[in-house]
Amino acid sequence: MTIPHTFDLPETFTHLEYTPEVARATAPIFDRLRDVMPEIEWPVHAPYIVEINQLKRQRNAIILAHNYQTPEIFHGVADIIGDSLALARQAEQTDAQVIVLCGVHFMAETAKVLCPDKTVLIPDLDAGCSLASSITAEDVRLLRQRYPGVPVVTYVNTSADVKAESDICCTSANAVDVVESLGSDHVIFLPDEFLGRHVAQQTKAQVIFWKGHCEVHERFSANDLRLYRAQYPNIQILAHPECPPDVLAEADYVGSTSGMIRHVDRKRPKRVVMITECSMSDNVAVDFPQIEFIRPCNLCPHMKRITLPKILSSLERMQHPVVVDPVVAERARRAVERMLQVGRGSAQQYAARTLAD
Ligand code: SF4
Repeated sequence: MTIPHTFDLPETFTHLEYTPEVARATAPIFDRLRDVMPEIEWPVHAPYIVEINQLKRQRNAIILAHNYQTPEIFHGVADIIGDSLALARQAEQTDAQVIVLCGVHFMAETAKVLCPDKTVLIPDLDAGCSLASSITAEDVRLLRQRYPGVPVVTYVNTSADVKAESDICCTSANAVDVVESLGSDHVIFLPDEFLGRHVAQQTKAQVIFWKGHCEVHERFSANDLRLYRAQYPNIQILAHPECPPDVLAEADYVGSTSGMIRHVDRKRPKRVVMITECSMSDNVAVDFPQIEFIRPCNLCPHMKRITLPKILSSLERMQHPVVVDPVVAERARRAVERMLQVGRGSAQQYAARTLAD
């Protein structure tokens, strides 16, 4: 989804001061955010928003922001927003020379893998992910020795090294389609155990799991969901498939972040709770003011490392450029591109070829 920035930037403004010009330039953004952000916060964010939007034009840069980024980033400076799959696709299509990835490190690596000729910046190098750090390339090689000939499907929440050892990647939005596309009796699914178990319920393939978990989604319990139902009559509960199985069993809808947004848009429930990272509800609520969003507050500490000051510093200093070994990048790119091809038939052909080798 592309967000147009329709406001005019002032030619000159006092550096990082909340001047009347800055207030005027950012008023249309704040008008959209006033239901999810206290007015007192705006003078802190607005000067950064103006400065970042000006600088990104000068740098021929584009800002990609994941659904879990805070509203001032998501609605204030992002050009492209979405889940991992949407960001991967858009990274490939942009003409900008510089990509600033507001998300976590594996997302920036994925953008670099797909766009090796572009400069990909991540505002904080320590923005990691518990899933990505749960598995190494060596682990994948050992699994291949243990299960020879079994295709490896790897969630995009992994390092480029791990993707390079995989046959095909997937996201939570397309995981079932990717597994089905392989046409294999057995599949190794890495590294998210809960997403893997959710996929296994929807395919005939025998799924071999890894014990990786998202530290945000694993904290939800089925009892949390029962309490929401008791406290908020007629609430629709939407859960991300990185949650434990008993949580998913209690939910009315299970899907990726993009799936949740589509579900809200189509069904227009009166009251909803999204069992996922808590900035997601703020970001979606902006576009659906008539729906009551009950907001669980499980924050991803890695996503929250990205802030407006760090984005500005990243653009000013061109920090931190993501580097991926070209050989690793080439192999990882094949796994990501096979995922992007799913639905067009090529993964099936690829699987037939691999399994015959
Ligand atoms: S929410 Fe979970 S899967 Fe997403 S970046 Fe944070 S730790 Fe990783």
